Amino acid sequence: GAVALRAQAPAAAGQAWLDPKLGAEQRADALLKAMTLEEKAGQVSQQFMFGAFENFAPVVRDQKVGSLLFVTDPAIINRLQKVAVEESRLKIPLLFGYDVIHGFRTIFPVPIGNAASWDPDGVERVQAVAAAEARAVGIHWAFSPMLDIARDPRWGRIVEGPGEDPFLAAALARAQVRGFQGPALGTPGRIIAGPKHFAGYGAAEGGRDYDGVQLSDAQLYNVILPPFAAAVAAGAGNVMSAYMDLNDIPAVGNAWLLTDVLRGQMGFQGFVVSDANGTKNQVVQNFASDEADAAVRSVAAGNDMEMAFGPAASAETLAASVRAGRLPEATLDRAVRRILLAKFRMGLFEQPFVDEAKAKAILADPAHREAAERAAERSFVLLKNDGDMLPLRAGAHKRVAVIGATANSKRDMLGPWAFQYDLPETVTLFEGVRNRLGKAATVETAPGVQLKRAVPSMFETITIPGAAKPEPRWDATRAAQEYDRAVALARSADIVILTLGEAEDMSGENASRSDLTLPGDQRKLFDAVAALGKPVVVVTMSGRPLELGPILDRAPAILHTWYGGTRGGTAIARTLFGDVNPGGKLPVTWPRTVGQVPIFYAHNTTHMPKDQGKRYWDIPSTPQFPFGYGLSYTRFTIGAPTLDRTELAPGGTVTVSTTVTNSGRRAGDEVVQLYIHQRAGRASRPVRELKGFQRVTLRPGERRTLTFTLDEASVRYWNAAVKDWVVDPGTFDLWVGDSSDATGHTSFTVGGAPRTVKG
Ligand code: BGC
Repeated sequence: GAVALRAQAPAAAGQAWLDPKLGAEQRADALLKAMTLEEKAGQVSQQFMFGAFENFAPVVRDQKVGSLLFVTDPAIINRLQKVAVEESRLKIPLLFGYDVIHGFRTIFPVPIGNAASWDPDGVERVQAVAAAEARAVGIHWAFSPMLDIARDPRWGRIVEGPGEDPFLAAALARAQVRGFQGPALGTPGRIIAGPKHFAGYGAAEGGRDYDGVQLSDAQLYNVILPPFAAAVAAGAGNVMSAYMDLNDIPAVGNAWLLTDVLRGQMGFQGFVVSDANGTKNQVVQNFASDEADAAVRSVAAGNDMEMAFGPAASAETLAASVRAGRLPEATLDRAVRRILLAKFRMGLFEQPFVDEAKAKAILADPAHREAAERAAERSFVLLKNDGDMLPLRAGAHKRVAVIGATANSKRDMLGPWAFQYDLPETVTLFEGVRNRLGKAATVETAPGVQLKRAVPSMFETITIPGAAKPEPRWDATRAAQEYDRAVALARSADIVILTLGEAEDMSGENASRSDLTLPGDQRKLFDAVAALGKPVVVVTMSGRPLELGPILDRAPAILHTWYGGTRGGTAIARTLFGDVNPGGKLPVTWPRTVGQVPIFYAHNTTHMPKDQGKRYWDIPSTPQFPFGYGLSYTRFTIGAPTLDRTELAPGGTVTVSTTVTNSGRRAGDEVVQLYIHQRAGRASRPVRELKGFQRVTLRPGERRTLTFTLDEASVRYWNAAVKDWVVDPGTFDLWVGDSSDATGHTSFTVGGAPRTVKG
C-alpha cells in the first residue's frame, strides 16, 4: 500500500521529544523518561529483516526493535516506518542500516580497489553517491567503511578494506566518513558512517575469518587503530565492534576497548553496534554464561546496540536483568540515549518517510554510473607492460577473443557485497571491449573454465531477496567442451584478452583461503592460450594479491583490476585501448608465494645485513611487487627531496619538496609517496613508514613541484615501555618516490628532549 508522506504530528502535551524546536539532547532525555524498561531493551535491539512485512509489523508496533537491517525496498521501509511512528506507543522512528560497502544500486570498485586509487577525494565522491542512493530508499546508516588493516591476503576480507598501511587507511577513513555523512549528521541525502570492525579483526590467526587475534598494544595503537581514530575525528556517528576475541576477550564485551580506548582516548561520541549476532556469540566464545549474561556484558562494555538474527538477546532479557540488579538502569539508558540521539540528529522524527518515485530516479541517475566508471579507471594497477604492449590500438587486431571465467560475468564484475548479481546496467569486460571496438573488430567471448569454491560460501545459504543463485557446477563433459571452445576461439583470434583471478565469492566475508594460486583450471588455460603464440594481455580480477608464478614471466602485459563494479568492463576496455592511463598503486604488498605471508613493507629490521636478514633459502626475501607499486603508459621522473629546514623542532614542521616530471609521451597519473625511518630511539621502529602521498595528473613534458609537511604527528608512535605516544629525538631517513622501494633519499633530525605527546 501507498504511504501518505507527511511529517509527524505536532507534539502533544507531555511529548516534548516530538518538538523540533528543542535540541537533540533535550529531546532524547525527555523521551528516555517516558520509556519503559521493555521499550529501552527494544531500542538497543536490531534485527535482520529476513521475512515479510507482516512478520515484522507487530515487532515494530510493540517496540521490540530500534533498528532493522537488510531491507532495501522503499515501499516496505515506508510501511514499517508508518507502523513505528503511528502505531507504536511512543512513535519512535526506526533506524534502517545496510551494508553500503562499495555502492548501493550503482556499484563502485571494491574497497581495496578504491584504496588502490590513492585518491581520498575520489573515494569521498564515491561514498557520497552511495549515500545518496541508499538514503533515497530510506536507509540511514552504512556498515562502512571497513577499516581493518590486513597484512595477510589469505584473509578474504582484505578485499573490503584499505590495505596494509595505517597512514593510507587513515586518509581513506576520513574521506569515507565525509562522503557518507557530509559535513554533519543529518545532512540531506547523506547517511551515518559505521567504521568497522573495532578492532583487530584483520589480524585473524592464519588469515582464517573470525579466528582469534593476538595483538600487542604497540601493534594495536601503531597499526590497527589509526584509521579508526581518523574516522572518529572526522565525526563518524557509529562504530561496529568486531566478532573475534582480541587478546582473549571478545571485542563486543571488551570495556577497555569500547569505552576506555574508543570513547576515553579517541573521543567517540556516537553509538556502537555489535556485528551480526556478536552479542549472543559471546556464549559460543566461552565468555558469557548465557544470552542474558551476553546482553548485559556487551551493554556494560559500551556496545550500545545488538545486531541479531531473530529476536535480540537484549530485547528478550535486558529488562529482567535490570530488575534483577544485574545491570544498572543508567547503563542501559546510556546506550538508549546514544541511539536516540542518532535518530534525532538524522531528522527522523521530522521526516521518517521517503518519496518512492524520487528514489527510483536517484537510483537510475546516469551521473552515478559515470562516477563509477571514473572510480574504476582510477583503481587499476598496471603490474607489467613489456615492450609497451599496452595500450592496444583499436583496429590493429580484427579478431579479438575475450576469454576467462570472469570475462563475461556481471556478477563477478561487481565483486562481493554487491548483493545484486544480474543488474542490466553492469558492463562485463567482453561487453566493454565490444562496445569500445564497435565495427573495428569482431569480438567474441568464452569462459573456458569455471571457478567454484571447494566449500560453499555462507552467502549461498542466506536467501537475499532478488539475488540470483550462482551457476551450478559444470560436469566433466561440459567442462571439457567449454575449455576446448575457449582454446579454439583463442586460436581463431588475432589477440587474446585473458581474465584470470577469482570469482566474486572467493573473497569477502567467509572467504579465506590457504593458497594464493589461481583457482580451477586457469593455469592450464593460460598455458594453452600462451602456447598459440598470439599476443596475450592478462587482466587479473581478484580482491587479493594472487600468486601468478610463471605467468608473471610469460605474459607480456598484466593489468590488475580488482572488481571494477557497474562500469568495470567499460573502464578496463578504455584502459586497455589507451583512452585512460592506469595510475593506481598497490595498497598491499604482493607476495611471491603464500609462504611469505605475512609480508608487508613496514616491518622491523633484524640485526643481519639487508641481503641476509629475513631470508628464506628457496626464494628471494623480497615480495613480488612492493607496496605502493604500479606502472603507467608514460614515464615519470621524481626529483630528489629537499627540505626547508633540517630539524623538526618541538611543535614545528619540516616541509619537503620534490618535483615530478612526465618524461614520456602520454598524459598520466603518478602517486608520489613519502616514507620515513627513525634510526634510533626508545623502540625499534619499522624500516619505512608512509607519511605522505599525492596523486597528480601530468601532461607529457609537464613538471610539478610537490610539497609535503611533516610535523610531530608524523614522527610520534606508541611506545610499549612508556605505554603512551612518544616522540624520540634523533636522525630520521626520508625517501620520496613511486613506491615503497623509493630511492630519493635525504635525512632530517627531530630536536628537543624525548617526550610524550597527546594521542
Ligand atoms: C559482517 C559485517 C556486516 C554484517 C551485516 C557481518 O557478518 O561481519 O561486516 O556489516 O554482517 O551484514
